[in-house]
Order: sequence, then structure tokens, then C-alpha cells
Amino acid sequence: MRALTGVGSTPLSGVGTARWYRPTALELPARPDPASVDSEAERERFERARNAAREAIRRARDRAAETVGEGEAAVFEAHEQFLDDPQLVDAIEGSIDDGSPAEHAVDDAYADAIAQFEGMEGRMAERADDLRDVRDRLLRALLDVAAVDLGSLPEGTVLLADRLTPSDTAELDPEAVAGIATATGGRTSHAAIIARSLAIPAVVGVGDGLDDIPEGATVLVDGEAGEVVVDPDEERRAAASDVDAPVVAARVSTADGREIEVAANVGRPAELDPAAERGADGIGLYRTEFLFLDRDAPPDEDEQFAAITAALQAFPDERVVVRTLDVGGDKQVPYLDLPEEPNPFLGRRGVRLSLSDHADLFETQLRALLRAAATDAGDALAVMVPMVARVEEVEDVLSRIEAVAATLDTEGVDYEIPDLGAMVETPAASYVAGALADRLDFLSIGTNDLTQYVMAADRENDGVADLHDPLHPAVLRAVDRTVTAAHACDAWVGMCGEMAGDPDLTELLVGLGLDELSMSAVTVPAVKARIRETDAESAATLAETVLACETRAAVVARLDGVE
Ligand code: PEP
Ligand code: MG
Repeated sequence: MRALTGVGSTPLSGVGTARWYRPTALELPARPDPASVDSEAERERFERARNAAREAIRRARDRAAETVGEGEAAVFEAHEQFLDDPQLVDAIEGSIDDGSPAEHAVDDAYADAIAQFEGMEGRMAERADDLRDVRDRLLRALLDVAAVDLGSLPEGTVLLADRLTPSDTAELDPEAVAGIATATGGRTSHAAIIARSLAIPAVVGVGDGLDDIPEGATVLVDGEAGEVVVDPDEERRAAASDVDAPVVAARVSTADGREIEVAANVGRPAELDPAAERGADGIGLYRTEFLFLDRDAPPDEDEQFAAITAALQAFPDERVVVRTLDVGGDKQVPYLDLPEEPNPFLGRRGVRLSLSDHADLFETQLRALLRAAATDAGDALAVMVPMVARVEEVEDVLSRIEAVAATLDTEGVDYEIPDLGAMVETPAASYVAGALADRLDFLSIGTNDLTQYVMAADRENDGVADLHDPLHPAVLRAVDRTVTAAHACDAWVGMCGEMAGDPDLTELLVGLGLDELSMSAVTVPAVKARIRETDAESAATLAETVLACETRAAVVARLDGVE
């Protein structure tokens, strides 16, 4: 047995037979003498290749819309835009006119564009994969090379690859593919996002060690632990199978009868049905910024209204918590022209932008939300704001909601004011949690950011990954203080950071008194199973001993029952 570590991208596990995906190298013929190139004929070849690529992209789009949903299919609309990008097309045609054959002209122009994206940060860097995908389609058409058929892999395949493009991933049949492991790639690359939506266990960014896994080996992909294990023994398989707990559609309670809501985090309409199928008790975090990505302009009020009402209809008797726009930090939206800042995570993001530069977008979003609250299923709508640090921000949000309500009233448009909450993801918010809860109906703890800010450890920086861990006593105390303050004001309090979806922490979170846990849909069944096994009273005792710990190591020892 040998384990390699990467980044767990879909928190599910699967065992199967290793099959390497090594797409045929697209080798270009040697460059001919420019004088011998018939530019007109090459322009025609390029045009034919572009049409063939366009058709293939549209087929991939339709297939993705059918299997994964419209949200993910939008990736291919972006691919079509790359294909028709005037700068790229001009560069290719210019180089053909200068005597390059079409395949070299395409390769050169895309190489420049890919290098530009690779030089950028975060999500923008991942767009380089999209460009490679489009370039390869063009080159395959020009060189007459067929693509490998990823759609008909044998059942029980664990697919190994250096990298997978979004198109590759969208082609996969989730029934046949037991797991994916790639040498490169990050959690937020489109390929990883599509694998997650297809519920295919995935570990990305494993590194060169992946190359040593031979074709045909038995491989476990543990997307929860972020491990790829060759020849796993029974014990290792059993440890990874936790997340395969049966789906429980109803609400669950601890063994001694305390009900805890287990909701799902979603970002796109296509994720609603899979969340319901995994037994989520509603939506605890709808990341609306995903509705704003991969397009050229923000969704208008009606589109946002449609997305919110679709969520309410997918969970007719359950609460749906919609978070207002949380852009800035690592979530850049090119058409919004967000301010360039030396330290974006400490800059204008979330509610700070909604209350300043993007007050117009905020108003549109509030109109859509208030209208949705007045629909048949609208009673279940709750709205929360991200990145709150000050009581004044909440007061400002409340007065803007009143102003929007007054306008809708004047216009004669139906509206209701939904339940309102704030995310607690800054240390400041946890210190003033009581004052926030006093003005609101609920709080939801975002441990991804809360950990980053309490520990002063960038959530994107592998170099401080050991600090970005919610089990540090300071983070746990911030959580505890928030829960206590909310309850003192009769507000409910949930958690929607990644910590909430870790079944090994469920007992601790129950003990800390959280009323709701919200997570990626894939972990809902495992967390529900843990809640049912937990005794709330002994969980409270565990939480008390954990809160007294001074170090992370001591916390882990207590959780493991070692001390
Ligand atoms: C969080 O910060 O924990 C959270 C849920 O928000 P996001 O991950 O979208 O920043
Ligand atoms: Mg956050």
C-alpha cells in the first residue's frame, strides 16, 4: 500500500482500476518556408477548423447541460467566446498572412494568451486550462486527430491524468468512473468543479508521483482525505467509506433527541436537485456570486429572481439561505472592475462592496430577494450578508432593505421581508456577535474565512496550511463565543464553512451548540449519520474539554479520545 497526497476536490471515495489518460500528443509538422505557404488556403483551413471546433464545443455544452446542469454548461459558452475572440483571431490570421501554416499560427497565438493567464492569480490562472482546451480542439481539427473517447470508459475506472480539461471532465460517465486523480490542478479549476457536480471522487494536484502508478493497479481515490492510495488494504478502504452513508431524507436528531438541521451549500441552480437527492434539509448557503462568474455582465433582477425561486421550489418545506454577493478577495469578476488592492482579502470584499462601489448591484439583488420572498414558497427564504465586521454595516443593510421595500411598494410590486442574518467570518463579527444577533434573525459561521482571519493565514497559501486549520483553540473559541452570543439573543446559529461538513467534527459542533450545519451536498449523508450516533449531552462535555485546550495538538488528542 502506498499513499500520495493531493488536494481533495470531491469529498467522496472510490476504488477501481487505474487507467491512464494520455491524450495523443498533438505534434505539429516542421515549419515550412513562409514563401511556400498559400495564405488563402491556410485561412480557409483555419475557418473550417474553427467551425468544427465550434460544433464540438456546442455538442459538449449540450451534453454538460443534460448531465451536469446549465450552470456548468456555461463553461463551454466561455470556450466559444475564446474561439471567436477578435484578438486571437486577428493574431492567427495575421500570422497566416505572414507565411505560417494554420496549425502553427493557432499554436503561437494561443501560447501567448495561455502565458498571460498563467501569470495571473487564482481563478484567472485556471482559465489557462480553458484556453488549452479550445486550442487543442482547433489543432485536432487541423491535424485530423480524433479525441480519446472518455465517455465510454469501462466501469470501475480510476482515471489518472496529468491534467483534465473541463471538456474532458464533462464527458465522463459518473456511473463508470470510480475516481479521478490528476497531477496538476486546483480545487477551483473548472474541471474540479464539474467533477464535484458529477459527484465523482477526485483528488487534484498530486504532483509527479502520480506517474509511478502503473496502468491496471488497484487505486483508492479518497477525496475527503485528499489521498490516492495504491493497493489499499481493507482498513484503509473502510476508513475512506465513511462518506458513503445512506441518504436520509428527513430531519435528524441526536440519540438523545436534539434536532440539528443539515443543509447544503450550493452555487448554481444545477446543484439544487443533487442536494435534495442527498437528503439536505434545505440550503444553508447559496453562494450567489457564482451566478455572476463566467459571463460578461451581471444577471439582471429577473434572472436572479428565477434562480432564487428555483431554490425555494427545490426545497418546498425547507429554509433556503441566500447569501448576497460575495465578490472580492479570491473571487474576481472581470466585468465588475473591482479595485486592484495589494491585499484583497483585507480589502473591499463582500458587504463592503455592496455598501459602496456596487450599491446598484446590491439594490437589484435585494429587489429580486424581496420579490422572491412574496412567492408561494417564499416564507422559507432567509438572506444573509457576507464579510460583516461592524454593527453599522448590518444597520446600513437593514435600512437599504427598507428603502427597497418602499420602492417596491410604490411600484405596486409584491414583496415580503425575509428573515435576515449575517455571516460571522471575521474576528470582529465574533466579538460583536451579540449586537449583530440582536438586530437579526440568525448568524452563520463561515469558518473558511474566520480561520483565515483569526489565524492570519491566507486560505489560498499552501505555505501556511497548518495555520489555516479550524481546530486551533483560537478559532474554536471564536465559534463558541458566537454561538453563545446568538443564543442569548434568541437567534439561531449555523455553520457553513468547510468545517461543518467534516463528519469527524460533528460531535464537537453539536457540543458547541450549533443549530444548523451546512456543507457540500456530498457530505450530507455522512454528517446526518454522525448526528444520529451522537449524544448531545456528552458532546457538550467534549466541547467543554476541547475549549479548555491550549494547543491544536491537545484539541486533536481530545477529539481522538487519547487524553
Ligand atoms: C466561509 O468563509 O467559511 C464561507 C462559507 O464563505 P466562502 O467560502 O464562500 O468565502
Ligand atoms: Mg467566506
